[in-house]
Amino acid sequence: MAIRIRTKIAISFASILILLSFLGLIAYYNRNILFYGMFGLEQEIYKLGIFSDIQLAIDKVVMPANDYLITGDLKEREKFQKLAREVEDGFKRLEGLEAHREHAELYTGAMERFAVLKKKAEEIFAIPNPIGDKRGARLMYDMDAIASDIITNYMDRYYTRERDEIKEAAASAGIVRKRVDMLLFTGGIAAVVTIFLLVSYLIRSILRPILEFKEGARIIGTGDLNYRIAIRDGLEINLLVDEFNRMAERLKGSYADLEEKVEERTKELNELNIRLKELSITDGLTGAYNHKHFYEMLTDDIKRAARYNHPLSLIIADIDYFKHYNDSRGHLQGDNVLKGVASCIMRNVRAQDIVARYGGEEFVIIAPETGKDGARELAERIRRCVSLQPFPYKDAQPGGNLTISLGVSAFPKDASDQKGLIEKADAALYRAKEGGRNRVEAA
Ligand code: GH3
Ligand code: MG
Ligand code: MG
Repeated sequence: MAIRIRTKIAISFASILILLSFLGLIAYYNRNILFYGMFGLEQEIYKLGIFSDIQLAIDKVVMPANDYLITGDLKEREKFQKLAREVEDGFKRLEGLEAHREHAELYTGAMERFAVLKKKAEEIFAIPNPIGDKRGARLMYDMDAIASDIITNYMDRYYTRERDEIKEAAASAGIVRKRVDMLLFTGGIAAVVTIFLLVSYLIRSILRPILEFKEGARIIGTGDLNYRIAIRDGLEINLLVDEFNRMAERLKGSYADLEEKVEERTKELNELNIRLKELSITDGLTGAYNHKHFYEMLTDDIKRAARYNHPLSLIIADIDYFKHYNDSRGHLQGDNVLKGVASCIMRNVRAQDIVARYGGEEFVIIAPETGKDGARELAERIRRCVSLQPFPYKDAQPGGNLTISLGVSAFPKDASDQKGLIEKADAALYRAKEGGRNRVEAA
């Protein structure tokens, strides 16, 4: 089960808070016991209990002797001895508990007085016929006086002191209790505030980097590979930040490599495309343009010439008696001648002129910005070039040389469309052949 970090931390601290509250409550409800124990109150109260037992016993201890003087019943002696033991036991118990020297003196005094009382009682019980006995009555009187002396001069004093001490202890306990209540209260508030601040701090210190990472990943995802996370917040976060930034750096590096590669490949592809385009429009044997490209260029150039009202000429060249050359020297030798003728043409034309292989051994030249006279001159230069080429076995050709004939037509004078221009140039070529070959004829 996925739990948010915020929730996890909150749950942890809430648990601590509940635990602390529980402990606080236990301490609160047990504090009375704590303080009573601390100031000896419990013991004082216990002592007071014994004290009141003694006092009760002293009150009663004179009764059996008195009854003996009235009834003469010796059973009263037993009653007296029982009550006397109670008094003595009480004193002993008190003596064992008492820490105060001053108090101890009080018990010792009371106990000595009680011993005298006990002696007087024994004397009474020793009188054989106590009823109406004068000595008995006198002893009884002494006994009462001793009992009241013990109570007034010892027990009351002791009681007053004990009560004052209890009061004092209770007052101190009350003050401390208030202080501890206050401490518990302020401590509780401080604990809650501290825990709250701690939780906020933890949530902030964990959530802030997480949100920062989320934002960083988002920005890098959008392609901004220069983005870096800048927070420094604790060892683990720093490690994470460094790793994240290193990743971004590597990503940037590989992206740059990739871009470079793509650029390289695109360049290669473009070059290949250009080459392919050239191949698709070039004649493989001679390097001149092919028939298809010639028509496209002628169409475009006629349009341009028409639009700007500029001249344009077309020349068709055909090798003389080429069939003869092929037949006697073979086609491979014939192909070399074709290359030589194409080379002559290409060497003599200008950069903007278009040279194409029109048929088997026919070439065409589109000469933009060129009138008929200029074209005729160009044709003448080409013709001369070919006639001067040292083709092998050219002497064996009819006329003793390997030559070409050329026909020239001009736009717009001779024709205003490509079909017309070609026909006119063709017709001029035909005339050049008819006229004896190795010559230029214009439409
Ligand atoms: P003309 O002077 O009247 O032009 O005579 P010609 O023999 O040249 O006749 P034509 O122009 O009809 O020439 C056609 C010949 O050109 C046929 C063939 O032997 C040759 N030829 C055509 N294409 C090629 C080629 O690609 N290579 C070679 N070697 N010869 C070719
Ligand atoms: Mg021909
Ligand atoms: Mg020919």
